Formats: sequence, structure tokens, C-alpha cells
Amino acid sequence: MDVRVGVIGGGQLARMMIPAAVELGIDIAVLGEADDVSARQAVTQVGDYRDLDTVLAFAATVDVVTFDHEHVPQPLLRELEARGVAVRPGADALLYAQDKLLMRERLTALGLPVPDWQRVTTAEQIDRFVADHGGRAVLKTPRGGYDGKGVRIVHGSADAQDWFDDFDALLIEEAVDFTRELAQLVARNPSGETVLWPVVETVQQNGVCAEVIAPAPRSAGRVSDVAAEIALAVAGGLGVTGVLAVELFETADGRVLVNELAMRPHNSGHWTIDGSTTSQFEQHLRAVLDLPLGLTGSRDAWSVMVNILGGPQDGTLPDRYPAAFAAQPGVKFHSYGKTPRPGRKVGHVTAGGDDLDDVAYRARAAAAQFD
Ligand code: ADP
Repeated sequence: MDVRVGVIGGGQLARMMIPAAVELGIDIAVLGEADDVSARQAVTQVGDYRDLDTVLAFAATVDVVTFDHEHVPQPLLRELEARGVAVRPGADALLYAQDKLLMRERLTALGLPVPDWQRVTTAEQIDRFVADHGGRAVLKTPRGGYDGKGVRIVHGSADAQDWFDDFDALLIEEAVDFTRELAQLVARNPSGETVLWPVVETVQQNGVCAEVIAPAPRSAGRVSDVAAEIALAVAGGLGVTGVLAVELFETADGRVLVNELAMRPHNSGHWTIDGSTTSQFEQHLRAVLDLPLGLTGSRDAWSVMVNILGGPQDGTLPDRYPAAFAAQPGVKFHSYGKTPRPGRKVGHVTAGGDDLDDVAYRARAAAAQFD
């Protein structure tokens, strides 16, 4: 196909779009933050995604612009659209992935289930909300958070003062006593076609996704129906194009609540590269180009994805792979070509099969080769 997709941001999500583009016969170009980013193989321009001239020059070389992250400022996105650039997802949709307060407002207006929440601008409002919710609540910065940064358990306004220096308004919400976290991935193209993957369970450590189990155990029936219904309502209601991940909480009393939205391929969908007929990266490319979407049936009864977090800090990460391949020949390894730092996502592994305990054991054992 004679089309070129431009990805703003050169992280691992852009990197994992590259093989999908090659397979589909689509040209892919990346605007990277540096020339040694994770997606360096496809970097055609290095520059600042917050600079209009830089992004305009990049956009002029591609047919469609999409993203590795959600940090491109709204005014810049709107300027691109005003100049006729195909931006997918568009600024109107991305707004709700960029600002958690606007996201909570919009989901509430759509009648979707969210934790009890409030926009707070004063210390008194925080203290009142905390008192009304059993003495603790979760406080979030509306913008700029990722991997648990910008999220804090608070017991009163004293825990919040520094954030008011940077933000006029904060999001406070009930501390949900969830039994587990789920994620529902959906893709939507501009023609309105949508496809869902099975709902998955995500396991976080210190606010960072550590492991994903697909499908989520014990989700057949009501939980998967509710998750699917929510994700389709968000994708259609917000006019999302591309892949959308809806992060969910499941509670002991059977509630399924929306936590977060991500409008791009997402860590909860990395398992689809090896475990699904169509990976989230291929689907994202199809969707942003308004191509027909691919089927999303699973290749295995169970897939387990484990992130390689941090990796060895002694410079031996690249050297660990051969032994890991030998130890787990049935596991699929994905390296992000990144320098290890504590807690940093430097790769992931995926195992698949019929027996969940065996699949999880093999995936964890493979990831442990990089401890
Ligand atoms: P980020 O944008 O940094 O990923 P999230 O809003 O997804 O931040 O929150 C990160 C993690 O914090 C969640 O995965 C969840 O474990 C926990 N968390 C967030 N909101 C709540 C809440 N209202 N109640 C309980 N835990 C929460």
C-alpha cells in the first residue's frame, strides 16, 4: 500500500508498530526525541513534539499522524487539524486521555461507571471529601501522570499542598477497594468499525503494570460483557480512532468501574502480538488508516505477558538473552532496545498454552532471567 504513517514519539509502542507496518506493506516514520530512542529503526526526524514547526515539518512527510504517547499539547494538535493534517486519534478525543478531570466529567456525562470523584481547588474541599470517604482518598494531578506518578493516597489536605503549586484544580476520588484490575482493549476506525479483544487482568507493582493475564480468569459472562459495553461506549462516545485501552477496577460487590483511558496501543495489549490473530499494533495501523480491521481471536486458551522491569543494572541486559532463550524456548521475547534503569520497562515476554499455571510459570521464569 502506498501510504505512510507518522508516529510522534519513539518509545517501545512506536517500536512495536514497525514490524506490523513492514508486514502490511505500510511505510512508517517516527518523530523521535533523540536518534537512539527505542523506535530508532524508523526515526526519520529528531525533534521536540511540543514545537509546532518541528511537528508540521514531520506531518508534511506522512499521510496520517498518530502517537506513541499522549503528551502532544492540545493547541498543537488543533493547529495540525486546522491545516488539514489527518490526526488519529483526533484532538477532540485525545483531550480525554490527556486530562483526568475532563475524562471523569465526560464519562460521568455518558453515564459510565466511575469511582466517586470530585474536582477540588481548595484544601477544605479535600478534607471534606476525605472525611466523607472513610478518612482516605486517591488524589490525582489532572495532567502529566504516568505509571503511577501523579497518583497519591491522601488522608487530608496536608498530603496535597505541593500539587496545588503546579495545578489550579486536582481530581480526588474514592479509594476503590478493588479485588483486581482489568483492561478492555478496543480498536475503532474512522468509518466506525470496532473490534474488541478479550478483557484481561492486569497486575501492577508500585503503580506500574507488571503482568497481564489474557483472558482475565473468571471473566466469562457478566464481567466481559460489561467491560465490552463500557469500552464500546467510550470508543464511540468520544470518537476515538485507533486502539483504545480502558483500565477498569472490579470490586468484591460486583462493580466494574473505569479508572483510566489510553488512546494508543497499551501495555495490557502486548500479549496480542503473540496471542491474537491481529496484534494491537497491526490493528492500530489499520484503524488510523481507516482500513478494515482484523479478527481478534486468541491463538491460545491463555496468554501471560510479564514485563521486564528495570533489568540488570550492571550492563549485562543484552548478554542475558541467549540463556533466557535456552531456558524458555517456547516463550516469545520482546526487547525494547533501552538502557536499563530501576523500574523502567525494557522489554516483555509472552507465553501461551492451555494450562494457566504452566503458562504463567513459564512467562515469569523467562522474565526472571533478567533480574
Ligand atoms: P497512571 O495514569 O499513572 O497510570 P492511574 O490513574 O492509572 O495512573 O493510577 C495508577 C494506579 O493507582 C492504578 O493502576 C491503581 O492501582 C491505583 N489507583 C488509581 N486510582 C485509584 C482509586 N480511585 N482507588 C484505588 N486505587 C487507585
